[in-house]
Amino acid sequence: MDKDFPVSGWTSLAVHGGHKKDPTYAHQVPIYASSTYVYDTAEQGMRRFSGQEEGYIYSRWGNPTITEAEEKISALETFGLSHQNGSAVQAKGILHASGMAAISTLMLAVLKPGYKILTHFSLYGGTDELVQKILPPLNISAEIIDLRDLNKAEAAMKAGGIKLLYLETPANPTIQCVDLEALCKLAKQYNIIIACDNTFATPFLQQPFRHGVDFIVHSTTKFLNGHGTAIGGILLGRDIELMKGHITKVHRLLGGNANPFDAFLLIQGIKTLELRMERHCANAMEVANFLEKNKAVGKVNYVGLESHPDHTVAMKQMRRPGGMLSFELKNGLQAGIGFMNKLKMCVRTVSLGTCDTLLSHPASMSHAGIPKEQRDKYGITDGLIRMNVGIENVQDIVADLAQALAS
Ligand code: PLP
Repeated sequence: MDKDFPVSGWTSLAVHGGHKKDPTYAHQVPIYASSTYVYDTAEQGMRRFSGQEEGYIYSRWGNPTITEAEEKISALETFGLSHQNGSAVQAKGILHASGMAAISTLMLAVLKPGYKILTHFSLYGGTDELVQKILPPLNISAEIIDLRDLNKAEAAMKAGGIKLLYLETPANPTIQCVDLEALCKLAKQYNIIIACDNTFATPFLQQPFRHGVDFIVHSTTKFLNGHGTAIGGILLGRDIELMKGHITKVHRLLGGNANPFDAFLLIQGIKTLELRMERHCANAMEVANFLEKNKAVGKVNYVGLESHPDHTVAMKQMRRPGGMLSFELKNGLQAGIGFMNKLKMCVRTVSLGTCDTLLSHPASMSHAGIPKEQRDKYGITDGLIRMNVGIENVQDIVADLAQALAS
């Protein structure tokens, strides 16, 4: 796609964004399976290392297949966004080996001993453990509160010491949503850096940069890849100089780089993201309505339902309510295990964002590392089932759930 052809459609950008004509004229970006790059002369090598000449050096530092994925996601996260002066919002993305690698680079790049993170009590289990177990010995602490209460959020910021506001909305696995616009406004008053995990929503449903977020992270393992074929993550930032300087340095030295094969799979997945998300959302709404009426189900957490406490906030900042929901079975853990074992088409596994419907039991799987009292406080009860509503024909998803719930 020529740079001077401004596409107006989301999927046009998802298909063509980040793609450059390959020197071999290959239609698709090749998988550049090369760890290093050669120089015509020693002087050229010197120029590359000093930054006088653009070009690849070593694949931990950069790789053409990986660049295409980074530029595609950056284009989608900034699509249609402009500053008050009319100039386009820009971002630089750095692809990582996993979502956790991207989150680790972010935390270790922006936090120093003595700094504090302010975050919400419902987070992906791995992020929660990073914040509560890995960072404290480095003298980086966390204040974990209900960020849906803006008074509490402001009081924590006012008390001082907070350097990073870390958000995840919708959050894993409770599907709680925090108000991006209101929290960004508050954090800016106190000079706090804001980061948002946009994994559940994807850039098609939600653009955190629109509300003033400084950094976005994704587990690209999920909806962006879309087919469950690769682990990956991305860290995006709006301050291009900072991203190209300090953040790139930290990323390269920590070594959580992506690999070209996984980047290639990710590129192919992103091209159909809008189509898949539309279907995920439509199916999730029908499944949520079905579950809400089922006698074995105590509670359904889906932001598309008006009964969800964060419905209004979610609909203010998301195009549609997404493909993730969770629900509680009335008879707790035993009912949860029995139900999971009866599924015939839907798949028992962790992870999410794939074409097939996946169900998991957070208390014994993704959030098992969090103590039970804390899980109960966060709403991750023993009977909670998390569901990635897939893109199968919805009548088959509902029929499978119905037979598993009936027994
Ligand atoms: N963020 C969210 C919301 C997640 O659900 C996950 C994984 O499930 C991660 C981050 C971590 O991503 P990864 O497993 O790719 O490291």
